[in-house]
Amino acid sequence: MYAEVIVDIAHSDVDKIYDYACDDKVSAGMRVAVPFGRSVTTGFVIRVKERSALESEKIKRILRYDAEPALNRECLELAEKLSERYRCPKALVLRLFLPAEMRTGKVGEATRTFARLTAEPFTISPRAPQQQALVAFLEENGEADTAVLRQRFPGALKALSDKKILLFEKRRVFRDPYGGLEGERREHVLTDAQRTAVEQIRGSSKTVTLLHGVTGSGKTEVYLTLIAEQLAAGKTAIFLVPEISLTPQMLSQLRARFGKSAAILHSGLSAGERFDEWRRLREGSARIAIGARSAVFAPVENIGLIVIDEEHDGSYSSESAPRYNTFDIAHLRARYNGCKLVLGSATPSVETYRRAKEGKFGLVTLPDRINRRPLPEVRLVDMRREVRRGNPSCFSSVLRDKLETCLARGNQAILFLNRRGYSQTVLCRDCGYVAKCRDCDVALTYHREKVNGAERDCLKCHYCGTNYHMLTACPECGGVHLGYTGTGTQKVVAELKKLYPSARVLRMDVDTTSGKEGHYKILKQFASREADILVGTQMVAKGHDFPSVTLVGILDADMSLHFPDYRSGERTFQLVTQVAGRSGRAEERGEVVLQTYDPDNYILRFAAKYDYAGFYEHEIAVRAGAAFPPFARIVRVMVVGSDEKEALAALKEVYEALERIYLKNTDRFLFFNKMHAPIKRIRNKFRYQVLMRLTEGSLLRQIYAVCAECRYRDTLVYVEENPSNLS
Ligand code: ADP
Ligand code: ZN
Repeated sequence: MYAEVIVDIAHSDVDKIYDYACDDKVSAGMRVAVPFGRSVTTGFVIRVKERSALESEKIKRILRYDAEPALNRECLELAEKLSERYRCPKALVLRLFLPAEMRTGKVGEATRTFARLTAEPFTISPRAPQQQALVAFLEENGEADTAVLRQRFPGALKALSDKKILLFEKRRVFRDPYGGLEGERREHVLTDAQRTAVEQIRGSSKTVTLLHGVTGSGKTEVYLTLIAEQLAAGKTAIFLVPEISLTPQMLSQLRARFGKSAAILHSGLSAGERFDEWRRLREGSARIAIGARSAVFAPVENIGLIVIDEEHDGSYSSESAPRYNTFDIAHLRARYNGCKLVLGSATPSVETYRRAKEGKFGLVTLPDRINRRPLPEVRLVDMRREVRRGNPSCFSSVLRDKLETCLARGNQAILFLNRRGYSQTVLCRDCGYVAKCRDCDVALTYHREKVNGAERDCLKCHYCGTNYHMLTACPECGGVHLGYTGTGTQKVVAELKKLYPSARVLRMDVDTTSGKEGHYKILKQFASREADILVGTQMVAKGHDFPSVTLVGILDADMSLHFPDYRSGERTFQLVTQVAGRSGRAEERGEVVLQTYDPDNYILRFAAKYDYAGFYEHEIAVRAGAAFPPFARIVRVMVVGSDEKEALAALKEVYEALERIYLKNTDRFLFFNKMHAPIKRIRNKFRYQVLMRLTEGSLLRQIYAVCAECRYRDTLVYVEENPSNLS
């Protein structure tokens, strides 16, 4: 017997299928160890056959194999299709289906080392802030996983351990992600509207159904009812959510309802946890896979239903190779399994809604909130008038009034601002110099943080994460008149503290939510009413359900409006609707204050009236007029490399090859040009692009092929289709 094996080396030079001799217990999908070159490598069997075309003395033998195949028939077929579609080495595609441990074979016993402080007296130099922070952390938490400490306080762990300040203990742990999350079982009797929705989806003749339901209309209960039905029928399900760590409520609900049948797959898990969850699904002891986009590759068989919640969310497109779109994979799997795919959203993407309107997808709507609760009233506030009236702060007088009332009544408020840090940029008022990152072509953001009780100023690059010392004078002209422009979440909190000294304020953004439980902690504090106001970036817009929130303030609605991207209008509409949807979800009516410098903007006007249909009709006409997706495809070929000369050579090669395609098919191109990417450099890598707008997709294969051929040592060439971020 012979096995066709793909070796787990993600390099296009070895992207071939190799024949190995094997015994008859080896089957397709198995993980094997094979001799490759001068070493032993992991590989996966994609086919077993009687004969090989190679001479038998040239064929090596498989050294070891697992008892059970890691990959099933469906995965193998899907992998084949994806590798073809995205012109991506097969080994790289297979990795999507497998947790890292499965590939490397390094599944260790799950033990962890915990550290705590010694009871002996000790001192720490004030010049070692990391060590102080670690000590403070342990004083607060008692003990902590050393892996976490190493990540959060780099360097300090070893230093403190050398000084014998820490005590260590190794313990076996049961790898149960979110094991400590107590579930609250909230199973509702379906409302008439929900029941009708369930019946319509169940009875639809279409594979894909869009469930368009306003925020708070009870979409989750519809999904869960449909999932429970499939489980009862002996099938499995996949339930995809944008960012699972942001929605612990959803997780605890699923836990409570499905118990150990539910497995959670997402990037926040440790490798061991992910492996355990994956194995439970593969073995069939867990039958619902829940997770962010990568869970679409869950090893479940006999799928009865796939759900993509918040289908409009940008996180469903992968940003590393292969750059797949979650919907495409889910659709292929639904067709393979003959099951339904449900897309849910209060603000469907324009593309999805168009397909539903054209009848390609089924369309089911939930137009009202549960119990016909009214949607919160949105008040548009013209910030230009505030400035004219001499109010330079980031709170309009309307918002201040409403905030006062909200707090006085003992309710909670959410303030949304999509910019973290204190101020957006620092500039020299004398010469106009703007502080920029050394390695990226972007301005630095001013952060003011409390570390061990002391204020610390710094400048941060939001692209590579580098921290810089705060400027005291302009490095160009020596001037000392530094200006700060653009408000960030930290400044909002500082101003709130001045205005309402007794209000308890929480901030949720990338800077306050590190670690697996970062979001969870803040959301839990807010849910248990340990704070009155939650200030945050778009994380606060996700599906949270806080009954006491009666006021939502959108501090700067224009920020995402003027993003250089054809989807900026759509994204703004979605963001405003989603954040607004957090208000007034229980008995008391909610309110929303939407601050803008552009109060006549049509997107904001539609959003303020919850008029999705109006927004859609307007937006689709704009897209048709400008020939943007879904009436065209934007294809961007990126050339990214640290050696500028090499990157330029790669750009030239790929541009010339693409130009040949262009010249033969000019009628299918609306746009074709090469240029710097809008951000010319990130992490010290130069970025160039060939930007194309095509009338349809038939040339994609050729474009992918051209890019796959363009190989350089240090330069990456890759294709993006309708990228959600054109920077
Ligand atoms: P959506 O996902 O559409 O924004 P959710 O699924 O979060 O809405 O539901 C909104 C709220 O309504 C939740 O608090 C949920 O517990 C509640 N809810 C859902 N279905 C029912 C029902 N049939 N009866 C009563 N309350 C319900
Ligand atoms: Zn940078």
